[in-house]
Amino acid sequence: MTPIQCDVAVIGGGPAGLAAAVAATEAGADTLLLERHVELGGVLPQCIHPGFGLKLFGEELTGPEYSQRWVSQAAGIRRLTDTMVVSVSPGFTVWATGPASGLLEVRSGSLVLAMGCRERTRGAIAIAGTRPAGVMTAGTAQRLVNVHGHMPGKRFVILGSGDIGMIMARRLTWEGAEVVGVYELLPHLAGLRRNYVQCLQDNDIPLHLGHTVTEIHGDRRLTGVTVCGVDQAMCPMPATAQLVPADTLLLSVGLIPENELTRALGAEMDAVTGGPVVDDRMQTTVPGLFAAGNVVQVHDLADDVSLAGAVAGREAAAYARDGTAGAAWARVTPGSGVRSVVPQRLRLPADPATEITLRVRRPVEQRCHLLLTVRGATVARRRLDYARPGEMVSLSLGAQAAQALREGGDLAVEVVEA
Ligand SMILES: Cc1cc2nc3c(=O)[nH]c(=O)nc-3n(C[C@H](O)[C@H](O)[C@H](O)COP(=O)(O)OP(=O)(O)OC[C@H]3O[C@@H](n4cnc5c(N)ncnc54)[C@H](O)[C@@H]3O)c2cc1C
Repeated sequence: MTPIQCDVAVIGGGPAGLAAAVAATEAGADTLLLERHVELGGVLPQCIHPGFGLKLFGEELTGPEYSQRWVSQAAGIRRLTDTMVVSVSPGFTVWATGPASGLLEVRSGSLVLAMGCRERTRGAIAIAGTRPAGVMTAGTAQRLVNVHGHMPGKRFVILGSGDIGMIMARRLTWEGAEVVGVYELLPHLAGLRRNYVQCLQDNDIPLHLGHTVTEIHGDRRLTGVTVCGVDQAMCPMPATAQLVPADTLLLSVGLIPENELTRALGAEMDAVTGGPVVDDRMQTTVPGLFAAGNVVQVHDLADDVSLAGAVAGREAAAYARDGTAGAAWARVTPGSGVRSVVPQRLRLPADPATEITLRVRRPVEQRCHLLLTVRGATVARRRLDYARPGEMVSLSLGAQAAQALREGGDLAVEVVEA
């Protein structure tokens, strides 16, 4: 078998991988895109609702329209679809397999990881009860309805207030199903407020915060679930148990970045985001290994995914061409009120234009400030009217912070009430 040679290999053909492949090619790299599905676009072809593209294209597009823009831009780029990457070794040698090609070996100068994420399942959250048909993730239901034209049930309970669950609550209602309610373990919404308003409120679908499903009932098909209120420690309170009849339970209980390949390459991982630690060029701690999109952290907006993918692709092309310059880094750490932050490292001297993205730990429903501090001194701030865990926020590093980092120290990110 003769190995396929390229400058930059990109694993995953969703919005991150497509933007990376386009940017790497524009930067002069011989690029190869590998995608395990037959079609490119990642999760977007099944997201037929609008809400994509405002930031990048200045118009509101559906998921398929948004992904088609990128698929068109990537038209001339070498790609292998229906081809799954099964292992990667340092250097980089990529092993992939597909029904048409069999086993393939690809050798590339640098690598962009853009594998996205997968949904947490019933097994991941261990709900007690029987194992009937009618229990599935919200994304599975989305694919069944939007791509295959198949309604998976008539009366739905949705566990989790993630965006996919809320979007599906609306979609199923519009398709004539009854959505009894959305039950959320946390005391606050997990997804975007805009989805709560447009998907649940506008369609009179009740949201029950501080509730969970404790048992699944049914023999061959789901007949109902037991729901319970939870206490402050998030433990179900048996006295509040209530049987809710339903034939389908959708799970929208979180996403897991697909990082099996990343771990195998020895990249440092962030325990909170579930993705690799990256710097402002989207380079992991392994030189020449870049990552972007949901594989790094779960994003709210596909536009931000594409922007990060473009940075990764451009920088991967530069690495394949020039190799590493051996830079020094400052760490970026989540401080008070902040749950996670990306990038976790900044190359020095830091670029003032770098965007620091973060998620807060709990909702702040009043004016607050995002602060960047170096050696205890505030070097940048951004005022917000509110901050919510379900909504990613960002602020620019700025010249003062970049200068402070030149003089040593790490960067901390905090949120404080105004
Ligand atoms: C239901 C839903 C609704 C959303 N709604 C909106 C919205 O309204 N507006 C908005 O802006 N954003 C929305 N998003 C978010 C946006 O779609 C995601 O942030 C974006 O798709 C993530 O892009 P990605 O490229 O990182 O991952 P993905 O789109 O998941 O693409 C990853 C790709 O990698 C491939 N892959 C994985 N492993 C391998 C392997 N080993 N070998 C080869 N290929 C592999 C996968 O098959 C997949 O095609 C929504 C997301 C979902 C799930």
